[in-house]
Amino acid sequence: MHFGILGSGVVGLTTALELQQNYPNAQITILADRFNEETTSQVAAGIFRPGTSFAGPTREITQQWITDAFHYWDDIRRSKEAPLAGVCQLSGYIYSSTSPKIVRNPFIENLLPVYRQATEEELKLCQGDWKYGSFFTTCLTECRLFLPYATKKFIAAGGQVTRQHVSSFSEVSEQNFDVLFNCTGLGAKELCNDAQLVPMRGQVVKVRAPWVKLAFYGDYDTYILPGFEAVTLGGCRQYDSFNLNVCKYDTMAIKERCYGMLPSLKRAEVVREAVGLRPHRAVVRVESEILRLANGRTQKVVHNYGHGGYGVTTSPGTAKYAVKIARELLAGNSKL
Ligand SMILES: Cc1cc2nc3c(=O)[nH]c(=O)nc-3n(C[C@H](O)[C@H](O)[C@H](O)COP(=O)(O)OP(=O)(O)OC[C@H]3O[C@@H](n4cnc5c(N)ncnc54)[C@H](O)[C@@H]3O)c2cc1C
Repeated sequence: MHFGILGSGVVGLTTALELQQNYPNAQITILADRFNEETTSQVAAGIFRPGTSFAGPTREITQQWITDAFHYWDDIRRSKEAPLAGVCQLSGYIYSSTSPKIVRNPFIENLLPVYRQATEEELKLCQGDWKYGSFFTTCLTECRLFLPYATKKFIAAGGQVTRQHVSSFSEVSEQNFDVLFNCTGLGAKELCNDAQLVPMRGQVVKVRAPWVKLAFYGDYDTYILPGFEAVTLGGCRQYDSFNLNVCKYDTMAIKERCYGMLPSLKRAEVVREAVGLRPHRAVVRVESEILRLANGRTQKVVHNYGHGGYGVTTSPGTAKYAVKIARELLAGNSKL
């Protein structure tokens, strides 16, 4: 069996590792034009916290992805691999001054080890007129560590990695992949001519603030997320923006909102700023397709893209589902 994976972000790599587990004797090749720090995945703070709008084809499947993904990350966190893979535990608060709904999350309230209403005292831990709050304990995966870790693991188990830009599915059909996994994130917009896939621009400021030990979310996309070395301050969500440059006005707005919550951050040294385009799609696309190519060939494809702001959170779950779909496709049971 010969599998191809397009993409080497968190979605491509979790798919590659899942595939190796299911098909230990298969030949598996990752093709991608960007790796590690060149990917959107590396910009993510990496907290496991799906948005309530995150959606797969059905509510049940979406919940299954999220549940599988949490167990994947939490198993790594409990293992001796955790510091190498960049997975740790993180607790924190989500606050809102406007609506109690904002601080609830049915996807994870019964999944995380702790998810509860914040007390009146806890609403005062951060500056702001907070009326509603929840406290939770989750995982954080730092892609700066996870992407190289996963690549190394993939290669050690016999996987191959090639840097290549792919402008059409026909272009890779000569490589005779039994199934090709399309994990190209925003790249799928061109590759699949998918108008439903939209960039949701985000910007973050990474600061050195080892005294901050808890995560905090406030209104207007404000978040403070301690990671392995730096604390990520965010953020913004700009729909349909392709701007990959750091915007000084976004930096100012992020700092003002985060400093407003935790004034001690004013003393934190800025390590770097980063911009990423989240591959947003109202329904994340994980499905099979048999493509009839211009060169007369056919190619079995399993798409796995469009995770928006929640690709680190959910990728191990969609990877598992994508590999299951591939197995059905190969067995000829696909509902195509
Ligand atoms: C500011 C910010 C903060 C975020 N915070 C979080 C968070 O805390 N938690 C969370 O879960 N998510 C977060 N996200 C979202 C997360 O980063 C994305 O959902 C995730 O990175 C998507 O992963 P991906 O593998 O699909 O895409 P990418 O990381 O973009 O990888 C795509 C891969 O496909 C390859 N590719 C694309 N097109 C082609 C082509 N034509 N030919 C060859 N190769 C191609 C690229 O080279 C790359 O290797 C955040 C995003 C941003 C921007």
